[in-house]
Order: sequence, then structure tokens, then C-alpha cells
Amino acid sequence: MTDTTLETDRTSPDLRGMDAAAAAAAAAAVARARNAYVGGATKPLEWRERQLRSLRRLLVDGADVLCDALAADLGKSRTEAMITEIGFTVNEIDHLLKHLRSWLRPERVSVPVTLPFARARVVREPLGVVLVIAPWNYPVQLALAPLAGAIAGGNAVVVKPSEVAAATSHALARLLREHLDPNAVQVVEGGVPETTALLAERFDHIFYTGNGTVGRIVLEAAAKHLTPVTLELGGKSPTYVDDSADLEVAARRIVLGKFTNAGQTCVAPDYVLATREVLDRLKPLLSKAIGDFFGDDPASSPDYGRIIDGRHFDRLCGLIEPSLVVSGGGTDARHRYIEPTVLDGVTREHGVMQEEIFGPVLPLVEVAGIDGAIDFINDRDRPLALYLFTADSSTRRRFERETSSGALGVNIPLAHLMVPDLPFGGVGPSGMGAYHGRASIETFTHAKGVLTHPTRVDTTALIYPPFAGLKRRLVETLMAPRRKR
Ligand code: NAD
Repeated sequence: MTDTTLETDRTSPDLRGMDAAAAAAAAAAVARARNAYVGGATKPLEWRERQLRSLRRLLVDGADVLCDALAADLGKSRTEAMITEIGFTVNEIDHLLKHLRSWLRPERVSVPVTLPFARARVVREPLGVVLVIAPWNYPVQLALAPLAGAIAGGNAVVVKPSEVAAATSHALARLLREHLDPNAVQVVEGGVPETTALLAERFDHIFYTGNGTVGRIVLEAAAKHLTPVTLELGGKSPTYVDDSADLEVAARRIVLGKFTNAGQTCVAPDYVLATREVLDRLKPLLSKAIGDFFGDDPASSPDYGRIIDGRHFDRLCGLIEPSLVVSGGGTDARHRYIEPTVLDGVTREHGVMQEEIFGPVLPLVEVAGIDGAIDFINDRDRPLALYLFTADSSTRRRFERETSSGALGVNIPLAHLMVPDLPFGGVGPSGMGAYHGRASIETFTHAKGVLTHPTRVDTTALIYPPFAGLKRRLVETLMAPRRKR
């Protein structure tokens, strides 16, 4: 299956017809960032730590501004914004600040006997100028967490927030300009023309989060300059509920994972797989959890969000087949509101199973049991996340061994993001590369091998030609590959 879901209806870039103003702005931003990098401003550890502390201050002091913007863009509640956007990013920054020095310390590695007295180290050096392109669904977290990683790596950065979450983009641009190094950290706002112009520039790394269609555009543009790329993409993340699972807890956690941010979460459980017997027991529990969390009228719940725009609202309404609705199904175009909705009797042929849902619609799909679930999952693109509810450790082991996904969450969706040392990223069509915690340092630095060999005693003499007599026999004995027993 290919990612057609969230395919942009915006046209693909044509670099020849590129907007001249956008091209000039992109070139100017990249030139300023590059000057800062080449001038050495971003490399000292003290600069990195100062910038990370300023970024933290931006989030704390600017929390009200950001919460208002998130409410305007996504109807996101202040509590949700504090947990998933502001608090999340502050934790990520704190974790980087705590470990940065030890993660950046050169790592000694052993040398072969043929290089006596030599010293070999892995030194983490900055990459240069990094481009961060962010999406609209967690517009603060997904712009600033990669930015924090890139700063920690000692890079200059150009950040391009998503124009789709317009209020947050403007707020971020203003706050970043006020708080961070105005040369080394550049913000370019805008949509396709501006991003196209940026992609024509040369970067040392591009970090893109969003849909796979644009991911391919980014990869193609990067190829021209041989720029390495991290792609944080999406796809359909399955959830399998085993008959050994605690169904009440499973229902509550699935509802939380699915309907947070009105389902507009890249790692939200996209659909549920279970046997008919388990689905029939799970259905009322899902409806009950929805009622408990958001009340009888989720439209009036302060904790329930809205769909980002009319295009996504219409797309999602088209996925709700009325005959399949077992819970919810209500919509209101004026407020881009879609009730938390559960569909039963869904098969792999239904439209809702052809694309990433990315909204508050949860299909329940019957499978024959664990073998059927594993086959179903392995027949499709490798997902960004896979969730399993089970009390049986042999089932967990089978999922670990027999399926592949960006991450595997056992008995809890979404929470793997809260563990800062778990690398976060996809596999196959759900992405390439990873970040968070130490993985951010690995992504945003180059691991340079440094070998130092003393000259006082020239131990290398053994391998200088000519090879003859005793020297030849010695070298051949030392270097010859040995048979292993
Ligand atoms: P989006 O529309 O905001 O696009 C993402 C970025 O790409 C924006 O900055 C936008 O300006 C830029 N862009 C759009 N069209 C472009 C073009 N033609 N050329 C160049 N740049 C362009 O966000 P989206 O793609 O709708 O985001 C939703 C998708 O992102 C879902 O598939 C979701 O699963 C995925 N996602 C993944 C993660 C992750 O961490 N893996 C996180 C969030 C979202």
C-alpha cells in the first residue's frame, strides 16, 4: 500500500518557475545561517547550552501565546497543549542539557595489534546548516524538538513551520526571533513556494516531518546536493487486542491514543484488529470510555479538538460509512467538528482501510486470531507504530519477532514518545532515521573517526615494503586470515 492519504493537493515544486521573492528570502536565510556556522559560532558547547536554555525559556515564557495559537489552529485544549507540545519539548530539552556533554565526549575505541601505541576515537562533529520542515498536527513539538537536537549537535538551523497551522507558525516565528541567536537560527514561514525555494538551497542535513508524498519531493531535492535526509512520515498504525488482554484498560488507552488531538497524531492507533468475540466485548467499553472522557456531547468538551481545515474535514467525513457506525458519527462543518467515531464490520476493502485516517475515526477489523493479525500487519506497509494489548508474554515475543514497525507499544499507545532514550522514527514507508535524546545527537552530528599514531618509535616499519625474508614471513603470519574453529 502506498501513502496516498494525506497527499497534498498543492502542486509539486517546479524549481524553474520558482517564486522569485521566496527564492531570495530562502537564499538570504541560508546565507546568514551558513555564515554563522562557518564563523564557528554554533560549535562551542557553551553556545549550544545557552541556546537550549533560551529555547526552554521561550516555551515557558511563551506558553500562553503558544496555547492560544494551538487553540486557534486545532481547538487544542491548554492541558493537551501543555502535555503534548510544551511539556514534551521542555522534557526533551532538559534531557539533552543533562546528557549533552557526556554524549559528545569523544569515544575511545580499541586498535588492532598491528597499530601498537595508536589511539582511535570517535569524535562527534556538527553537520553544518540543517533544514527542519515541520507539519501542522503538533506544530510546536515537531518544529522545536528537531531544532533542539540540531542545536545540541552544534549546527546552524533554518526552521520552516507548517503554514497549515498558521497561528502557531506566526507565534513560533516571532518567539524564535526574540529568543534565539538571530544569525544561527533562521525561521522561514510559508507554504509550497517557500519550501520549494528552501529545497533548492544546499543544506548539510534535511529533517522533514509530514506525509510521504512530500517526503519523496524532499528526498529528490536533497539528492541534487547529496544532502542526507531524515524523514519522519506516517501511515496506518495497527492495534491488535488479544483475548488475554484487560479489555477495560485496553479500551480506555485506545480511546486516549486515538482521540487525543482529534486523532490527528502520526502514531495514533489507526485501526483495531481482534477476533469477533473480543470486538463484541470491546465495543461497549470503547463507547463507555469515550463518554467518560468527553461526556455525552464531545462538541462541548474542552478536552476535545477540531479538524485542522475544511479539506481534511471533508476527507474524513467521506470515510465514515453510516451503516458501520457503532459510536459517534456526528459532524459539524462550521466548526470542523467530528465526533469520536467507532466503525465495526470494517474489512480490508473499505475506503477507511485504504489510507492513513489521521482523524477521530476508529475502524474495528475482525481477524481469526494472532496468526491472522500478524499476516494482516505483514501484508501492509511497515507502520510507524504497532500496538498490542495482551497479558501473554509469548504473544508479545511473537509480535517482537514476527512484525516490523517504527516502534512497538505493548498495552499502551503513544507513550513510547515519552521515553526520551527510545529512538523515534519509522521504517520503510513510515520513515528513515530517528531522533529524541541520544538518537538526536546521532542524527545531527557526524561520527568522525580519528586515528593518532605516534612517530617516536616507528612501529609501522613492519609494513613498509620491500617484504622479504623474515619480515615477509612475520607479516604474512600476522596478517593472514585464520580459520575459525
Ligand atoms: P503539512 O501539510 O503541514 O506538510 C508538512 C510540511 O511540508 C509543511 O511544512 C509544508 O509546508 C511542507 N510542504 C507541503 N507541500 C509541499 C511541497 N509540495 N513541497 C515542499 N514542501 C511541502 O503536514 P502533513 O504532511 O499533512 O502532515 C501529516 C502527515 O505527517 C501524516 O502522514 C502524519 O502521519 C505525518 N506525521 C509524521 C510524524 C512523525 O513524527 N513521524 C509526525 C507528525 C505527522
